[in-house]
Amino acid sequence: MQRVYLGLGANLNNPIKQLDNAVIALKSLPSSEFIACSHYYASKPMGPQDQPDYVNAVACINTSLEPEQLLDLTQAIELEHGRVRKAERWGARTLDIDILLFGEHTLNTERLTVPHYGLTEREFVVYPLQEIAPELILPSGASIQQIVNTLPLNDLQQLPR
Ligand code: ATP
Ligand code: MG
Ligand code: MG
Repeated sequence: MQRVYLGLGANLNNPIKQLDNAVIALKSLPSSEFIACSHYYASKPMGPQDQPDYVNAVACINTSLEPEQLLDLTQAIELEHGRVRKAERWGARTLDIDILLFGEHTLNTERLTVPHYGLTEREFVVYPLQEIAPELILPSGASIQQIVNTLPLNDLQQLPR
C-alpha cells in the first residue's frame, strides 16, 4: 500500500461539480482506499489569463495500484468528465488529476514525473496539501510546513464546504 496525494483542478462546466464527481470516482478506484479531500480552493489561472478561475483541491488515497495503473485510471476519469486534450498547455479544462506524490517514490518515466514537478511552486497545491497532511515530509526532505512558509497565498481562497 502506498499513500498517494492527487491534485484536482477544474475551470469549466461547473468546476465544483467536476471536483465532487472526481471525488466520487476516486472513491471507487480498485485496490484503493479513499482517505481524505481538502477544502476546495478558488485560484487564478496559470498561463493564459483569458479563461475562468480554477477550483482546486488535493485528495489522499491509499493504493496498491502501480503508479502507471493509477495514471491510466485517473486519465480515464478525466476523459469521462469530458476533458478534451488540447495543444495549448494550461488551457481551460473540465478536470485535471495530477499525481503529486506516490509514497516516498521518485519516478521519472516517459509518462510520469513524481513528485509532480510543479508541486512546491503552486500555492493551489501546497496549501490544500498542508491542510490534509500538515506533518508531510517530501522525498526531498523538505516539510510541507517549510514550503508553505516560503510560498505566498497569492489569490488563493478557501471556499466554504
Ligand atoms: P501540469 O502537469 O503542468 O499540471 P497538466 O496537468 O495540464 O499540466 P496534462 O495535460 O494533464 O498536464 O498532462 C500531460 C502529461 O503529463 C500526461 O500525459 C502525463 O503522462 C504527464 N505526467 C507526468 N507526470 C505526471 C504526474 N505526476 N501526474 C499526472 N500526469 C503526469
Ligand atoms: Mg496539472
Ligand atoms: Mg494533468
